[in-house]
Amino acid sequence: MKRIKTRAIRALLAILVTTPLLVVMTSTQPAFANYFGNGCCTFADNGHHTFNWDSTEYGTALAVQYSMSNLNNQTDMTTEWVVPSSQTDNRSYDQHYTTYWGLDWDGSSTGWNLYAYAKCVETTLAGNCQQWQIRYDLADMNRFSNYQRQQVACHETGHSVGLDHSSEGASCLRNAVLSASTNYYTSHDRGHINGRW
Ligand SMILES: [Zn+2]
Repeated sequence: MKRIKTRAIRALLAILVTTPLLVVMTSTQPAFANYFGNGCCTFADNGHHTFNWDSTEYGTALAVQYSMSNLNNQTDMTTEWVVPSSQTDNRSYDQHYTTYWGLDWDGSSTGWNLYAYAKCVETTLAGNCQQWQIRYDLADMNRFSNYQRQQVACHETGHSVGLDHSSEGASCLRNAVLSASTNYYTSHDRGHINGRW
């Protein structure tokens, strides 16, 4: 049995800050880096994380597939592609979004161009997340390199297990994700994940 909350506001985003100055101004995370579960992002419901990316274009699908393998290889969690259902943990979509979920995807009013957004759309009785929905903006995905798409997918998949933004330059959970130096998780990120699962 599970309780359904269709609009749980638990989501985070990969953003592009429009100027280098703003990158500095928005780096407000504490020096000890990221939170887990009790910050932005509800915990995944268990350590086996299932994925489906049928509703994405080829480049996005490859990146999501990378993020699944990365989670499986880098951490104690296990992953699996599944036929989509209400219990699929990480469901990806891509479109040219402008106002979806009430967000300003192009940054015309906020100055932040959203590359992607992860949202917990269904929680369990225990308060963990049954399903994260992740939406990728094709306006950005189509101009990114494979590596940049992998950085964004790594970031959003990190949110889907409970990771908040990181202040570590090597973490794909860095808020301005394309400024991260890698497309994977740091030992700090992995410590959070492996400590729970
Ligand atoms: Zn984020």
